Amino acid sequence: MHHSKADGRTTDVKGRVGSVGLPADQATVRRSNLALVLRHVSEHGPCSRSAVAVQTGLNKTTVTSLVSELQARGLLKETGPQHAGSVGRPSLALLLDGSRVGALGVEVNVDYIAAFATDLAGRVLIDRRFGFDAMGSSPERSLDELTRVIERALADLDRLGVAPAGITIAVPGLVDSTGIVVVAPNLGWHGVAVTQRLARADIPPNVPIAVDNDANLAALAEYTSGVAAGTSDLVYLTGEVGIGGGVISGGRPLGGADGFAGEVGHVMVDPSGEQCGCGRVGCWETKVGLAALVRMATPDHAYGRSRQLVRDPEERLAEIEQRHAEGDPRVDAAVTEVGRWLGRGSALLVNLFNPRVIVLGGYFARLADRLIPVAHAELRRIGMAAPAERCRFVASDLGFGAASRGAAGVVVERVLADPTTIAIPPSP
Ligand SMILES: [Zn+2]
Repeated sequence: MHHSKADGRTTDVKGRVGSVGLPADQATVRRSNLALVLRHVSEHGPCSRSAVAVQTGLNKTTVTSLVSELQARGLLKETGPQHAGSVGRPSLALLLDGSRVGALGVEVNVDYIAAFATDLAGRVLIDRRFGFDAMGSSPERSLDELTRVIERALADLDRLGVAPAGITIAVPGLVDSTGIVVVAPNLGWHGVAVTQRLARADIPPNVPIAVDNDANLAALAEYTSGVAAGTSDLVYLTGEVGIGGGVISGGRPLGGADGFAGEVGHVMVDPSGEQCGCGRVGCWETKVGLAALVRMATPDHAYGRSRQLVRDPEERLAEIEQRHAEGDPRVDAAVTEVGRWLGRGSALLVNLFNPRVIVLGGYFARLADRLIPVAHAELRRIGMAAPAERCRFVASDLGFGAASRGAAGVVVERVLADPTTIAIPPSP
Protein backbone atom coordinates (compact mmCIF):
# COMPACT_ATOMS: atom_id res chain seq x y z
CA MET A 1 0.00 0.00 0.00
CA HIS A 2 1.33 3.38 -0.93
CA HIS A 3 -0.53 5.62 1.40
CA SER A 4 0.90 8.91 2.55
CA LYS A 5 -0.68 10.69 5.40
CA ALA A 6 0.65 14.13 6.18
CA ASP A 7 0.04 14.33 9.88
CA GLY A 8 3.52 15.63 10.71
CA ARG A 9 3.04 19.35 11.13
CA THR A 10 5.73 21.70 9.97
CA THR A 11 6.69 24.67 12.07
CA ASP A 12 5.96 27.92 10.32
CA VAL A 13 8.78 30.27 9.47
CA LYS A 14 7.31 33.65 10.28
CA GLY A 15 6.40 36.00 7.50
CA ARG A 16 7.62 33.81 4.66
CA VAL A 17 5.41 34.45 1.64
CA GLY A 18 5.38 33.53 -2.03
CA SER A 19 6.42 30.13 -3.36
CA VAL A 20 7.97 31.06 -6.68
CA GLY A 21 11.74 30.89 -6.77
CA LEU A 22 12.13 29.81 -3.16
CA PRO A 23 15.17 27.76 -2.19
CA ALA A 24 14.40 24.07 -1.84
CA ASP A 25 14.01 23.96 1.95
CA GLN A 26 11.75 27.02 1.97
CA ALA A 27 9.65 25.53 -0.84
CA THR A 28 9.26 22.40 1.30
CA VAL A 29 8.08 24.44 4.29
CA ARG A 30 5.70 26.36 2.06
CA ARG A 31 4.29 23.13 0.64
CA SER A 32 3.75 21.64 4.11
CA ASN A 33 2.01 24.80 5.26
CA LEU A 34 -0.26 24.83 2.20
CA ALA A 35 -1.20 21.24 3.09
CA LEU A 36 -1.74 22.18 6.73
CA VAL A 37 -4.17 25.00 5.86
CA LEU A 38 -6.01 22.99 3.19
CA ARG A 39 -6.47 20.01 5.50
CA HIS A 40 -7.59 22.24 8.35
CA VAL A 41 -10.28 23.88 6.23
CA SER A 42 -11.34 20.50 4.78
CA GLU A 43 -11.85 19.13 8.29
CA HIS A 44 -13.12 22.22 10.11
CA GLY A 45 -14.46 24.59 7.45
CA PRO A 46 -16.15 26.93 7.02
CA CYS A 47 -13.70 28.97 9.08
CA SER A 48 -12.14 32.42 8.93
CA ARG A 49 -8.50 33.16 8.17
CA SER A 50 -7.96 34.24 11.78
CA ALA A 51 -9.43 30.98 13.06
CA VAL A 52 -7.11 29.04 10.75
CA ALA A 53 -4.15 31.07 12.06
CA VAL A 54 -5.06 30.46 15.71
CA GLN A 55 -5.75 26.76 15.25
CA THR A 56 -2.76 25.90 13.07
CA GLY A 57 -0.27 28.11 14.92
CA LEU A 58 0.70 29.87 11.69
CA ASN A 59 0.83 33.66 11.68
CA LYS A 60 -1.97 35.64 10.09
CA THR A 61 0.10 37.12 7.24
CA THR A 62 1.34 33.68 6.28
CA VAL A 63 -2.19 32.27 6.36
CA THR A 64 -3.43 35.08 4.11
CA SER A 65 -0.70 34.33 1.59
CA LEU A 66 -1.25 30.56 1.76
CA VAL A 67 -5.00 31.01 1.30
CA SER A 68 -4.43 33.19 -1.79
CA GLU A 69 -2.30 30.47 -3.32
CA LEU A 70 -4.85 27.76 -2.49
CA GLN A 71 -7.58 29.91 -4.05
CA ALA A 72 -5.45 30.37 -7.17
CA ARG A 73 -5.12 26.59 -7.39
CA GLY A 74 -8.92 26.31 -7.19
CA LEU A 75 -8.83 24.44 -3.86
CA LEU A 76 -10.40 26.97 -1.48
CA LYS A 77 -13.28 29.40 -1.89
CA GLU A 78 -14.92 32.05 0.24
CA THR A 79 -18.49 31.89 1.45
CA GLY A 80 -20.71 34.73 2.66
CA PRO A 81 -19.80 36.75 5.76
CA GLN A 82 -19.70 34.79 9.02
CA HIS A 83 -21.03 36.78 11.98
CA ALA A 84 -19.02 35.69 14.95
CA GLY A 85 -21.15 37.18 17.72
CA SER A 86 -22.49 40.72 17.87
CA VAL A 87 -19.23 42.64 17.95
CA GLY A 88 -16.53 43.01 15.32
CA ARG A 89 -16.68 43.07 11.57
CA PRO A 90 -18.06 39.99 9.86
CA SER A 91 -15.33 38.10 8.05
CA LEU A 92 -15.47 35.89 4.97
CA ALA A 93 -15.26 32.21 5.77
CA LEU A 94 -13.18 29.69 3.85
CA LEU A 95 -14.47 26.43 2.45
CA LEU A 96 -12.91 23.61 0.51
CA ASP A 97 -13.66 24.21 -3.16
CA GLY A 98 -12.18 21.62 -5.44
CA SER A 99 -15.36 21.54 -7.51
CA ARG A 100 -13.15 21.59 -10.60
CA VAL A 101 -10.73 18.99 -9.20
CA GLY A 102 -11.75 15.36 -9.60
CA ALA A 103 -10.53 12.06 -8.18
CA LEU A 104 -11.17 8.89 -10.17
CA GLY A 105 -11.09 5.37 -8.79
CA VAL A 106 -11.60 2.35 -11.04
CA GLU A 107 -11.83 -1.28 -9.99
CA VAL A 108 -11.39 -4.25 -12.26
CA ASN A 109 -12.63 -7.46 -10.70
CA VAL A 110 -13.56 -10.96 -11.78
CA ASP A 111 -17.03 -10.18 -13.06
CA TYR A 112 -17.28 -6.38 -13.21
CA ILE A 113 -15.50 -3.08 -13.66
CA ALA A 114 -16.52 -0.19 -11.39
CA ALA A 115 -15.81 3.53 -11.71
CA PHE A 116 -16.24 6.05 -8.90
CA ALA A 117 -15.34 9.73 -8.98
CA THR A 118 -15.75 12.60 -6.57
CA ASP A 119 -14.65 16.18 -6.53
CA LEU A 120 -12.22 17.26 -3.86
CA ALA A 121 -15.04 18.12 -1.44
CA GLY A 122 -16.39 14.56 -1.73
CA ARG A 123 -19.35 15.23 -4.01
CA VAL A 124 -20.00 12.02 -5.96
CA LEU A 125 -19.74 12.62 -9.71
CA ILE A 126 -19.61 9.08 -11.09
CA ASP A 127 -20.71 5.82 -9.47
CA ARG A 128 -21.25 2.98 -11.90
CA ARG A 129 -20.51 -0.68 -12.43
CA PHE A 130 -20.56 -2.87 -15.55
CA GLY A 131 -20.76 -6.64 -15.73
CA PHE A 132 -17.55 -7.81 -17.40
CA ASP A 133 -16.15 -11.31 -17.59
CA ALA A 134 -12.52 -10.65 -16.71
CA MET A 135 -12.08 -14.27 -15.63
CA GLY A 136 -12.97 -15.48 -19.09
CA SER A 137 -11.08 -12.75 -20.95
CA SER A 138 -7.40 -12.41 -21.82
CA PRO A 139 -5.44 -9.79 -19.84
CA GLU A 140 -5.16 -7.78 -23.05
CA ARG A 141 -8.93 -7.76 -23.55
CA SER A 142 -9.52 -6.80 -19.89
CA LEU A 143 -7.03 -3.95 -20.18
CA ASP A 144 -8.81 -2.73 -23.33
CA GLU A 145 -12.08 -2.68 -21.42
CA LEU A 146 -10.46 -0.96 -18.43
CA THR A 147 -9.06 1.67 -20.81
CA ARG A 148 -12.49 2.27 -22.30
CA VAL A 149 -14.07 2.70 -18.86
CA ILE A 150 -11.39 5.20 -17.83
CA GLU A 151 -11.66 7.19 -21.07
CA ARG A 152 -15.42 7.37 -20.73
CA ALA A 153 -15.17 8.51 -17.10
CA LEU A 154 -12.64 11.20 -18.04
CA ALA A 155 -14.94 12.40 -20.82
CA ASP A 156 -17.80 12.63 -18.30
CA LEU A 157 -15.62 14.59 -15.87
CA ASP A 158 -14.57 16.89 -18.69
CA ARG A 159 -18.20 17.59 -19.52
CA LEU A 160 -18.73 18.53 -15.86
CA GLY A 161 -15.79 20.94 -16.06
CA VAL A 162 -13.74 18.79 -13.69
CA ALA A 163 -10.03 18.08 -14.26
CA PRO A 164 -8.76 14.76 -12.87
CA ALA A 165 -6.10 15.09 -10.19
CA GLY A 166 -5.26 11.42 -10.51
CA ILE A 167 -6.54 7.93 -11.21
CA THR A 168 -6.13 4.95 -8.92
CA ILE A 169 -6.91 1.46 -10.18
CA ALA A 170 -7.94 -1.30 -7.78
CA VAL A 171 -7.01 -4.86 -8.70
CA PRO A 172 -7.68 -8.12 -6.80
CA GLY A 173 -4.07 -9.24 -6.59
CA LEU A 174 -0.54 -8.49 -5.50
CA VAL A 175 0.64 -5.07 -6.68
CA ASP A 176 4.28 -4.09 -6.23
CA SER A 177 5.55 -0.62 -5.39
CA THR A 178 6.02 0.24 -9.08
CA GLY A 179 2.37 -0.49 -9.86
CA ILE A 180 2.99 -3.82 -11.58
CA VAL A 181 0.36 -6.46 -10.86
CA VAL A 182 2.63 -9.36 -9.89
CA VAL A 183 -0.27 -11.77 -9.84
CA ALA A 184 -4.05 -11.50 -9.81
CA PRO A 185 -5.05 -15.19 -9.76
CA ASN A 186 -8.73 -14.86 -10.65
CA LEU A 187 -8.03 -12.41 -13.48
CA GLY A 188 -5.25 -14.59 -14.89
CA TRP A 189 -2.84 -11.64 -14.70
CA HIS A 190 0.87 -12.24 -14.16
CA GLY A 191 3.39 -9.39 -14.27
CA VAL A 192 0.97 -6.92 -15.86
CA ALA A 193 2.34 -3.36 -16.11
CA VAL A 194 -1.02 -1.60 -15.99
CA THR A 195 0.24 1.99 -15.95
CA GLN A 196 2.59 1.33 -18.84
CA ARG A 197 -0.27 -0.19 -20.80
CA LEU A 198 -2.44 2.88 -20.12
CA ALA A 199 0.21 5.14 -21.67
CA ARG A 200 -1.51 4.32 -24.98
CA ALA A 201 -4.88 5.50 -23.66
CA ASP A 202 -6.43 8.91 -24.13
CA ILE A 203 -5.44 10.21 -20.69
CA PRO A 204 -3.85 13.66 -20.17
CA PRO A 205 -0.10 13.08 -19.63
CA ASN A 206 0.03 15.04 -16.37
CA VAL A 207 -2.56 12.84 -14.64
CA PRO A 208 -0.81 10.42 -12.26
CA ILE A 209 -2.00 6.82 -12.40
CA ALA A 210 -1.54 4.43 -9.47
CA VAL A 211 -2.45 0.78 -9.01
CA ASP A 212 -3.19 -0.85 -5.67
CA ASN A 213 -4.77 -3.89 -4.12
CA ASP A 214 -8.59 -3.82 -4.00
CA ALA A 215 -8.91 -4.96 -0.38
CA ASN A 216 -6.40 -2.38 0.86
CA LEU A 217 -8.29 0.39 -0.92
CA ALA A 218 -11.66 -0.84 0.31
CA ALA A 219 -10.29 -0.98 3.88
CA LEU A 220 -9.31 2.68 3.55
CA ALA A 221 -12.80 3.55 2.32
CA GLU A 222 -14.27 1.73 5.33
CA TYR A 223 -11.88 3.44 7.70
CA THR A 224 -12.65 6.92 6.37
CA SER A 225 -16.34 6.71 5.43
CA GLY A 226 -17.86 3.27 6.05
CA VAL A 227 -19.95 1.74 8.83
CA ALA A 228 -16.87 1.29 11.04
CA ALA A 229 -15.29 4.66 10.16
CA GLY A 230 -12.63 5.70 12.63
CA THR A 231 -12.17 2.20 14.11
CA SER A 232 -8.38 2.13 14.31
CA ASP A 233 -8.10 -1.68 14.26
CA LEU A 234 -10.24 -3.27 11.62
CA VAL A 235 -10.04 -5.95 8.97
CA TYR A 236 -12.00 -5.59 5.75
CA LEU A 237 -12.86 -8.72 3.78
CA THR A 238 -13.81 -8.48 0.12
CA GLY A 239 -16.68 -10.82 -0.61
CA GLU A 240 -15.98 -11.46 -4.25
CA VAL A 241 -15.02 -14.53 -6.24
CA GLY A 242 -11.62 -13.93 -4.67
CA ILE A 243 -11.29 -13.03 -1.00
CA GLY A 244 -8.82 -10.31 -0.07
CA GLY A 245 -8.16 -8.75 3.30
CA GLY A 246 -7.31 -5.14 4.06
CA VAL A 247 -5.93 -4.57 7.54
CA ILE A 248 -5.99 -1.24 9.38
CA SER A 249 -3.82 -1.57 12.48
CA GLY A 250 -3.40 1.27 14.94
CA GLY A 251 -5.06 3.62 12.44
CA ARG A 252 -2.62 2.72 9.67
CA PRO A 253 -2.93 0.43 6.71
CA LEU A 254 -0.78 -2.66 7.09
CA GLY A 255 1.26 -3.23 3.95
CA GLY A 256 4.14 -5.50 4.84
CA ALA A 257 7.63 -5.41 3.36
CA ASP A 258 6.40 -5.44 -0.26
CA GLY A 259 2.84 -4.17 0.17
CA PHE A 260 1.60 -7.76 -0.20
CA ALA A 261 0.10 -8.20 3.28
CA GLY A 262 -3.52 -9.25 3.62
CA GLU A 263 -3.72 -12.10 1.12
CA VAL A 264 -5.97 -13.99 3.46
CA GLY A 265 -7.92 -15.64 0.65
CA HIS A 266 -4.90 -17.80 -0.13
CA VAL A 267 -4.20 -19.02 3.36
CA MET A 268 -4.57 -22.79 3.20
CA VAL A 269 -7.40 -23.99 5.44
CA ASP A 270 -8.07 -27.47 4.02
CA PRO A 271 -5.18 -29.56 2.69
CA SER A 272 -7.64 -31.95 1.03
CA GLY A 273 -9.82 -29.17 -0.37
CA GLU A 274 -10.50 -27.87 -3.85
CA GLN A 275 -8.04 -26.40 -6.30
CA CYS A 276 -7.86 -22.60 -6.06
CA GLY A 277 -7.49 -20.07 -8.89
CA CYS A 278 -3.97 -19.44 -7.60
CA GLY A 279 -2.92 -23.03 -8.33
CA ARG A 280 -2.74 -24.15 -4.72
CA VAL A 281 -5.21 -26.38 -2.92
CA GLY A 282 -7.64 -25.65 -0.10
CA CYS A 283 -7.24 -21.85 0.07
CA TRP A 284 -9.78 -20.01 2.24
CA GLU A 285 -11.44 -18.46 -0.81
CA THR A 286 -12.31 -21.92 -2.15
CA LYS A 287 -14.54 -22.15 0.97
CA VAL A 288 -15.99 -18.65 1.23
CA GLY A 289 -15.53 -16.96 -2.18
CA LEU A 290 -18.60 -16.13 -4.24
CA ALA A 291 -17.73 -18.94 -6.64
CA ALA A 292 -17.90 -21.42 -3.74
CA LEU A 293 -21.32 -20.15 -2.68
CA VAL A 294 -22.64 -20.22 -6.23
CA ARG A 295 -21.26 -23.74 -6.77
CA MET A 296 -23.02 -25.02 -3.64
CA ALA A 297 -26.27 -23.04 -3.93
CA THR A 298 -26.84 -23.04 -7.70
CA PRO A 299 -24.56 -25.76 -9.11
CA ASP A 300 -26.19 -25.49 -12.55
CA HIS A 301 -24.92 -21.88 -12.78
CA ALA A 302 -21.45 -22.30 -11.30
CA TYR A 303 -18.65 -20.01 -12.43
CA GLY A 304 -16.87 -21.34 -15.49
CA ARG A 305 -19.93 -23.35 -16.53
CA SER A 306 -21.40 -21.00 -19.06
CA ARG A 307 -19.65 -18.40 -21.10
CA GLN A 308 -22.64 -17.15 -22.99
CA LEU A 309 -23.52 -14.31 -20.69
CA VAL A 310 -21.67 -12.10 -18.25
CA ARG A 311 -23.39 -11.90 -14.93
CA ASP A 312 -22.87 -9.13 -12.47
CA PRO A 313 -22.53 -10.50 -8.90
CA GLU A 314 -25.81 -8.77 -7.96
CA GLU A 315 -27.62 -10.90 -10.56
CA ARG A 316 -26.16 -14.09 -9.12
CA LEU A 317 -27.20 -13.04 -5.62
CA ALA A 318 -30.69 -12.17 -6.79
CA GLU A 319 -30.99 -15.67 -8.24
CA ILE A 320 -29.73 -17.27 -5.03
CA GLU A 321 -32.23 -15.27 -2.99
CA GLN A 322 -35.02 -16.17 -5.37
CA ARG A 323 -34.25 -19.88 -5.01
CA HIS A 324 -34.10 -19.46 -1.24
CA ALA A 325 -37.57 -17.89 -1.33
CA GLU A 326 -38.75 -20.88 -3.36
CA GLY A 327 -37.55 -23.17 -0.58
CA ASP A 328 -34.48 -24.71 -2.26
CA PRO A 329 -32.69 -26.41 0.67
CA ARG A 330 -29.30 -26.17 -1.06
CA VAL A 331 -29.26 -22.41 -0.54
CA ASP A 332 -29.60 -22.60 3.23
CA ALA A 333 -27.01 -25.35 3.44
CA ALA A 334 -24.60 -23.35 1.26
CA VAL A 335 -24.96 -20.14 3.27
CA THR A 336 -24.46 -22.04 6.54
CA GLU A 337 -21.36 -23.75 5.17
CA VAL A 338 -19.90 -20.42 3.99
CA GLY A 339 -20.74 -18.85 7.36
CA ARG A 340 -18.89 -21.59 9.21
CA TRP A 341 -15.78 -21.22 7.10
CA LEU A 342 -16.04 -17.46 7.40
CA GLY A 343 -15.89 -17.87 11.18
CA ARG A 344 -12.93 -20.28 11.01
CA GLY A 345 -10.84 -17.97 8.83
CA SER A 346 -11.84 -14.98 10.92
CA ALA A 347 -10.60 -16.76 14.06
CA LEU A 348 -7.17 -16.78 12.44
CA LEU A 349 -7.43 -13.06 11.64
CA VAL A 350 -8.57 -12.27 15.16
CA ASN A 351 -5.66 -14.19 16.66
CA LEU A 352 -3.20 -12.41 14.35
CA PHE A 353 -4.45 -8.82 14.27
CA ASN A 354 -6.81 -8.39 17.24
CA PRO A 355 -9.28 -6.25 15.28
CA ARG A 356 -12.27 -4.61 16.96
CA VAL A 357 -14.36 -5.04 13.83
CA ILE A 358 -14.32 -7.33 10.80
CA VAL A 359 -16.11 -5.50 7.99
CA LEU A 360 -17.80 -7.82 5.52
CA GLY A 361 -17.77 -6.42 1.99
CA GLY A 362 -19.16 -7.46 -1.37
CA TYR A 363 -21.57 -10.38 -1.34
CA PHE A 364 -20.93 -11.09 2.36
CA ALA A 365 -22.71 -7.81 3.12
CA ARG A 366 -25.75 -8.81 1.06
CA LEU A 367 -26.10 -12.09 3.02
CA ALA A 368 -24.89 -10.68 6.34
CA ASP A 369 -28.10 -11.38 8.27
CA ARG A 370 -27.66 -15.08 7.68
CA LEU A 371 -23.85 -15.29 7.58
CA ILE A 372 -22.97 -13.30 10.70
CA PRO A 373 -24.72 -15.43 13.37
CA VAL A 374 -23.09 -18.61 12.03
CA ALA A 375 -19.66 -17.00 11.58
CA HIS A 376 -19.82 -15.38 14.98
CA ALA A 377 -20.66 -18.64 16.76
CA GLU A 378 -17.76 -20.37 15.01
CA LEU A 379 -15.39 -17.50 15.83
CA ARG A 380 -16.35 -17.68 19.51
CA ARG A 381 -15.91 -21.45 19.47
CA ILE A 382 -12.36 -21.54 18.06
CA GLY A 383 -10.78 -18.09 18.36
CA MET A 384 -8.67 -17.03 21.35
CA ALA A 385 -11.31 -16.00 23.86
CA ALA A 386 -10.36 -12.41 24.64
CA PRO A 387 -9.86 -11.01 21.11
CA ALA A 388 -12.81 -13.03 19.77
CA GLU A 389 -15.17 -11.68 22.43
CA ARG A 390 -14.21 -8.10 21.67
CA CYS A 391 -14.48 -8.43 17.90
CA ARG A 392 -17.72 -8.10 15.99
CA PHE A 393 -18.72 -8.61 12.37
CA VAL A 394 -20.43 -5.75 10.57
CA ALA A 395 -21.80 -5.58 7.04
CA SER A 396 -20.31 -2.92 4.80
CA ASP A 397 -22.79 -0.47 3.31
CA LEU A 398 -20.44 0.48 0.49
CA GLY A 399 -21.40 -2.56 -1.58
CA PHE A 400 -19.32 -3.72 -4.51
CA GLY A 401 -18.09 -0.14 -4.96
CA ALA A 402 -15.92 -0.03 -1.84
CA ALA A 403 -12.58 -0.50 -3.61
CA SER A 404 -13.26 2.10 -6.33
CA ARG A 405 -14.42 4.52 -3.63
CA GLY A 406 -11.22 3.91 -1.67
CA ALA A 407 -9.23 4.36 -4.87
CA ALA A 408 -10.77 7.80 -5.45
CA GLY A 409 -10.14 8.61 -1.77
CA VAL A 410 -6.43 7.97 -2.22
CA VAL A 411 -6.33 10.59 -4.97
CA VAL A 412 -8.10 13.16 -2.75
CA GLU A 413 -5.70 12.34 0.07
CA ARG A 414 -2.72 12.96 -2.21
CA VAL A 415 -4.01 16.45 -3.10
CA LEU A 416 -4.63 17.28 0.56
CA ALA A 417 -1.09 16.10 1.40
CA ASP A 418 0.46 18.19 -1.38
CA PRO A 419 -1.77 20.93 -2.86
CA THR A 420 1.03 21.96 -5.27
CA THR A 421 0.16 18.88 -7.35
CA ILE A 422 -2.77 20.98 -8.61
CA ALA A 423 -1.36 23.52 -11.06
CA ILE A 424 -2.29 27.21 -11.02
CA PRO A 425 -4.19 27.76 -14.27
CA PRO A 426 -2.57 30.33 -16.61
CA SER A 427 -4.23 33.75 -16.19
CA PRO A 428 -6.59 34.61 -19.05
ZN1 LIG B 1 -5.41 -19.65 -3.59
